[in-house]
Parts: sequence; C-alpha cells; structure tokens
Amino acid sequence: MNQFNTLYHLIFVVKIKNIMKLAILGNGLTSLSLAKSLVNKGIFVDIFSNQKKIDINKNRTIGLSKKNIDFFNREILNIKKFSWDIKKIEIYSENLQSEKILNFENKSRVLFSMIKNFDLQTELFSKLIKNKLCNFKKILSYKNSNLNKYNLVINCDSRNQITKKFFSKKLKKDYDSFAHTTIIKHKKIKNNVASQIFTQKGPLAFLPLSETETSIVYSARGEKNIDLKKIVTKYNSKYEIVLFEKLASFKLKSVNLRSYFHGNILAFGDLLHRIHPLAGQGFNMNIRDINILCELINFRKDNGLELDRSICNDFEKKTKHKNYLFSSGIDFIYEFFNLESKINNNILSKSVRIIGKNKFLIKSFEEIANNGL
Ligand SMILES: Cc1cc2nc3c(=O)[nH]c(=O)nc-3n(C[C@H](O)[C@H](O)[C@H](O)COP(=O)(O)OP(=O)(O)OC[C@H]3O[C@@H](n4cnc5c(N)ncnc54)[C@H](O)[C@@H]3O)c2cc1C
Repeated sequence: MNQFNTLYHLIFVVKIKNIMKLAILGNGLTSLSLAKSLVNKGIFVDIFSNQKKIDINKNRTIGLSKKNIDFFNREILNIKKFSWDIKKIEIYSENLQSEKILNFENKSRVLFSMIKNFDLQTELFSKLIKNKLCNFKKILSYKNSNLNKYNLVINCDSRNQITKKFFSKKLKKDYDSFAHTTIIKHKKIKNNVASQIFTQKGPLAFLPLSETETSIVYSARGEKNIDLKKIVTKYNSKYEIVLFEKLASFKLKSVNLRSYFHGNILAFGDLLHRIHPLAGQGFNMNIRDINILCELINFRKDNGLELDRSICNDFEKKTKHKNYLFSSGIDFIYEFFNLESKINNNILSKSVRIIGKNKFLIKSFEEIANNGL
C-alpha cells in the first residue's frame, strides 16, 4: 500500500511538472516580475532572451502605486528596502505662471513609491538565478526552439522574431516627443513630495528617490538633443543640485496590440500596451496584468485544470477593454495640455484648477491611479 502511494505520488508530481511548465520570452522588468510570481506558486519557468546579460540603464526609475507595491511585496518580492514613499503630488501649469493647479494628498496612506529599475531588476534576477524552478536560456533564433512543449509561452519581448511574426497588428501613435531622464543629486532635504509642471513643451516631473536624490522625467515635443540641465535649472525652485547623473532620451509612442495571443503564445507587458509616461502608469499596468494572469492560473490550479491556451483567451477578455480605456485616458490628458499650448490660452489650466477644488473628483483620480479601472 505504501509503495502504491509513493508510486502514485511520483506520477502525480511528474504530471504536475508537465502541466506547469511555462516559457517567458524576454528578461526585462515585466518578465522577471512575472517569473518570480510564478515560481512562488511552484510553477517551472524557462526565461528566454537573446542578450548575454541583462542590459539595465542605471538612471531609469519607476513610480509604483500603493496597491501595486502591496501586491509586489506580498506576491512577488519584498521591495520595501529600496522603495521611497511619496506622500503628496503637486501639479503646476506654466500657462498659469507656474501656479499649482492640482494637489493630491492622502493623510492615511502613501500615494506611491519610487524605485530604481536597476535595483528591482538586479534583485529579481539574483533571486531567480538561485531558484531551482527557474532556468535562464540564451537563444538567438526561435526557429527550432520547440516552444510547443510549453503549456504557455508568455512573450514580453517587443523585438524578437515571434513578435514580428504574430504581434505586428497594433494601434500606434507617435507623440513626436522624447522623454529625457536623469537623476539629480542634491543637498539633503525632506523629500516626499513629487511635482510635475506642465510646461509649454510637455510635462517635467521631479520624483524623489531619497533625501539626496530626485529622478527627473521631461517629456517634450521636438528634437532629441536638448539641454536638460538648463531646463531643470529653470524650473527647479527646491533643490540645491550638486550633480546631474548621465542623461538618457527615449522616443515616445503609444501602442495597443490588436490581438493579445496567437495559439499558446500570450503577448504581455509593454508589448501589449505602451503609454505616455506623464502619469507614470506603464509598469503599473503590467503589474495589474500580472495580478489578473495569476488569478487565472490560481483558479485552474485550485480546480485541477490544465494551464492551457484557454488562459490566453480569458486574459484577453478580462483585460483588453480596460487596458485600452486606461491608455486612452492617459492620451486624453496628454492631448488636453497639448491643446492648451497650441491655442496659447490658459482656459484649460484654469478649469483644471477649479476641478482640483472638488474633493470627490480628486479622490476618484487618486483611486484610478492606485487601482486602475
Ligand atoms: C521615461 C519613462 C518613465 C516611466 N515612468 C514610469 C513610472 O513612473 N511608473 C510606471 O509604472 N511606468 C513607467 N514607465 C514605463 C516603464 O518604464 C515600462 O513599463 C517598463 O520599463 C517595462 O519594462 P520591461 O523591461 O518589461 O519592458 P522593455 O523595456 O520593453 O523590455 C522588454 C524586453 O525586450 C527586450 N529588450 C528591451 N530592450 C532591449 C535592447 N535594447 N536590446 C535587446 N533586447 C531588448 C528585453 O529582453 C526585455 O525583456 C516609464 C517609461 C518611460 C519611457
């Protein structure tokens, strides 16, 4: 009887192993976060990438909403040690002589937390490389890669051959803008208030990282080569700047994929939806997607069902309309302030200032930024 039990258990484990094998394509932030959440559930994951080592820009940062930070800490990895809490957000408009038009503050909780991409990606990588359920595989071509043997393939890489072959149909918008980023080092200051100024050329954000460091994101219409130091100096009234870290620029576009999957391959992360960074929501959307995908996987695991391609369909049904609506909302905010610059009038900023006095609306905006739609 005992032998029978052991044999039965062995067959069961082998079956589970077969059932629960997933491939993730790409080794960026979304891929690694998703991989970590899956291995935490006891699922085997192979991570495919064409890069020898992970290529990380050390000066990129992301702001994560309170709800997503809580989810990350609980389901993926505890990131408290390298996140910096923001308790207040102030929005200004250059068209109103840089007057404050909106103010977000919640006395009972932090609004969001800032993280350096490098810290997050390095920590995720170092945890995954030691995990027996996870394998990193270098791949140059997917032609003979045998991806069919996986129950599910999750593609987070917008540059590979699979993306070019199956995920090229998308709604695209070119903002004719670049996001210019750097980190400023400054004299020590109490630094928990983020601010964003809608300048004539686009939004300039000051995003605190610590008492002595603040991330700068300037999304401006026009050419790639600008004097970011001069612009930051012009609008900065708070920091005694000691040093500017290396500057980097990224072309800005928004993308919404028309179809989320092909067979058992699910497109994921920025490949599904890329948005303007003015509200700092791109990676937040990816985390919400991870949460939904994990719920679908949990449901199947708990009910003894296979992890098969039906997950792709269910995921698309649950997320596509919300993601599209959310992306459109971000685009609307961009166009709103863009229009004001074009018509050279401050009527729109004035109306935002009036809206900003309505506590119910401010609370609703906060909730959407925290939870998504
Ligand atoms: C200026 C700016 C500010 C932002 N701020 C915020 C914010 O505050 N909050 C927020 O939630 N989101 C923010 N975002 C969005 C956020 O940065 C992205 O959602 C996130 O970085 C996606 O990371 P990723 O690694 O999953 O995707 P990607 O960077 O698209 O990488 C996906 C995959 O593609 C491959 N790949 C990428 N680059 C290369 C390369 N050069 N060579 C070969 N392969 C490559 C890698 O394998 C990688 O796995 C911001 C975006 C920008 C541009």
